[in-house]
Amino acid sequence: MLINMGIILREAKRERFGVIAPSTFDGESIRACFDAAVELRAPIIINAGGSLDMGFIADVVKFFSNKFTELPVALNLDHGKSFEAAANAIRLGFTSVMIDYSTLNFEENVRGTCEVVRMAHAVGVSVEAELGHVGRGEDYETDRSSYLTRAEEVVEFVKRTDVDCLAIAIGNAHGHYVGKPELDIERLKSINSVTSIPLVLHGGSSTGDKNLKDAVANGIAKINIGTDLSVAGANAIRDKVNGADSTAKLREVIITGFEGYKNELKRYLRLLGSANRW
Ligand SMILES: [Zn+2]
Repeated sequence: MLINMGIILREAKRERFGVIAPSTFDGESIRACFDAAVELRAPIIINAGGSLDMGFIADVVKFFSNKFTELPVALNLDHGKSFEAAANAIRLGFTSVMIDYSTLNFEENVRGTCEVVRMAHAVGVSVEAELGHVGRGEDYETDRSSYLTRAEEVVEFVKRTDVDCLAIAIGNAHGHYVGKPELDIERLKSINSVTSIPLVLHGGSSTGDKNLKDAVANGIAKINIGTDLSVAGANAIRDKVNGADSTAKLREVIITGFEGYKNELKRYLRLLGSANRW
């Protein structure tokens, strides 16, 4: 059933497991997410954003959630950049929106997030915001510590905005890291001690299994994974077309690619304790 993301994450935080939010980009990636979640009986968050055809994404997610009625699933706009983008996603049937004003100053972030929360909550849709700023893995060695989230700001931000969950920067980065990923678990602990809302880790790919498990043990309830799934799928295709199946047809190649994506997703679902939760 397609539900509000806050419901899924509050339970995950209470039960101390991590819900995976895989990056999806077409019908086949969404199918792979539903198959993985159903096979492992894991709740899941379909993440979609950027320049995708959001109406198509919403229709495909509705199709699969009507097929698998027992599965707790949320459809979340990833990195929504404006009030209009959030409103459009809600109109299309998204059950959650992220509003990312993390590059603005604190007051502007609060103000913009409040506007979206008011609209979204009026129609039962949850909101994720970002405080501090999660950068890119390729810049990791040069600017990893410039925009880390501060616990004292979290208290005020959550109180003033009433967001359902919050993406934080604790040494994580989008994409693959240049250098060794190091999460500031002490910072996470201090943030988690001042707020009860579920916390979100963007840039889960290649952060390392132990780092991710430590993060979940200390208040992270949602982990965004994109790059690792995409790379696993692309590698599966390379192995197939460079190996004995070098004459494979388009459909076989596509199926192989999304099997690779799905298997990597299942590895993360098991790793962070999502399996057998419904
Ligand atoms: Zn992100």
